[in-house]
Amino acid sequence: MHDFKYKRNCLYCEDVRVLDLARRFGTPLYVYSYKTLTDHFLKLKTAFEEIRPLICYSVKANSNLAILKALVDKGAGLDVVSGGELFRAKKAGCPAKKIVYASVGKTDYEIETAIKMGILFFNVESLPELTNINRIAKRINRTVNIAIRINPDVEPKTHKFITTGKLTNKFGIDFKTAEDILSKSKDFSNISIKGLHIHIGSQITESAPFIAAVTKIVNFIEKIKGKGINLEYLNIGGGLGIIYDKETPQTAKEFAGKILPTLKKTGLKIIMEPGRFIVGNAGILVARVLYIKSTPIKKFIIVDGGMNDLIRPSLYGAYHTILPLLASKTKPQAMGKYDVVGPICESGDFFAKDRVLPPVKEGDFLAIMSTGAYGFSMSSNYNSRPRAAEVLVSRNKIFTIRKREGYNNLIYNELTSFNPAFCGMRG
Ligand SMILES: *Cc1c(COP(=O)(O)O)cnc(C)c1O
Repeated sequence: MHDFKYKRNCLYCEDVRVLDLARRFGTPLYVYSYKTLTDHFLKLKTAFEEIRPLICYSVKANSNLAILKALVDKGAGLDVVSGGELFRAKKAGCPAKKIVYASVGKTDYEIETAIKMGILFFNVESLPELTNINRIAKRINRTVNIAIRINPDVEPKTHKFITTGKLTNKFGIDFKTAEDILSKSKDFSNISIKGLHIHIGSQITESAPFIAAVTKIVNFIEKIKGKGINLEYLNIGGGLGIIYDKETPQTAKEFAGKILPTLKKTGLKIIMEPGRFIVGNAGILVARVLYIKSTPIKKFIIVDGGMNDLIRPSLYGAYHTILPLLASKTKPQAMGKYDVVGPICESGDFFAKDRVLPPVKEGDFLAIMSTGAYGFSMSSNYNSRPRAAEVLVSRNKIFTIRKREGYNNLIYNELTSFNPAFCGMRG
């Protein structure tokens, strides 16, 4: 569900005509609905009301400060995966005690910064990392809370690039090693093991993989309880799927219905880390049609947004609905089949292949739907393209939350003050 709808043939974001935004701010342009964003957070919160979980929004899905602040203001915590995200979390005003930090490759600097900030805990992904966190904590004379990220070895039935809970993936610690660590926890003088964490993948539309993973971990918790090891937290990660095409993902309520009984049995405080579920359908990417190009065998719609703005189709073969900002009644025989592509010098630069669309002409605008998650946050400057602007709409109010980059942003950190005389080979 989202708040991008046609009214009198014009696509609206809440009470604002998207066409007006495209004309005013230029394209490519990301447009977000405040209502959709916060409604999704509240849906999850309400569905799990009974156990009052800490919902840590996963910053990497969309890390714009305004998006973070909107969610933090509603009571969300944040799930970060780098020092940069930690910096953003702080800037957005998130209390440190609502921040959890996962990543297989945390650096010493990142670890020390997070310890000093006083985050709730690290989700630790390997024994060497645990040893390192202990060493750093000891050096600065602190005791650090951690959760062990378990790799439960379950198949989440999603794209292989976004599967994270199989033993062939780099994430988490297997049950056997985790048990060893827990029984030797006294070896880690400056660490307090507070809980367990799982995150099995992204865009998971069924409940079965979650149930499988949570059941495994709950059995494990029972087992270690028998050895006198008691924990405080269970972090069940993110990964809830959304509708891009014809998926029928479980709703927050259905998910809660299936999983709550098992979670309640643990008696632990529950944390979740949804990203896509909260922000995915809350954003669209608007692009303008530059050219219609017909070849003997194909028709291309060439737009002014590219894979540098939205890489999901190129990277995951992801499907995104494409809608014209101005709808017209089109007879089926007038529909055409197009590849919607960007201007970038890569054949992988496309938003859709062989997509059936109503006739479009140069200068028309298209909306690439459900691009709120892993859209702007995965964007780049490839082909020296300044990154898109981002605007947030709430009812009839419009807020610029990221200005469009200019050419100066592209070269901001580059230096040409080298001396060619020192660069050549000596003859
Ligand atoms: C990416 C990530 C999430 C969020 O995943 P979604 O599929 O967007 O919900 C949660 N937890 C961790 C550890 C992650 O890496």
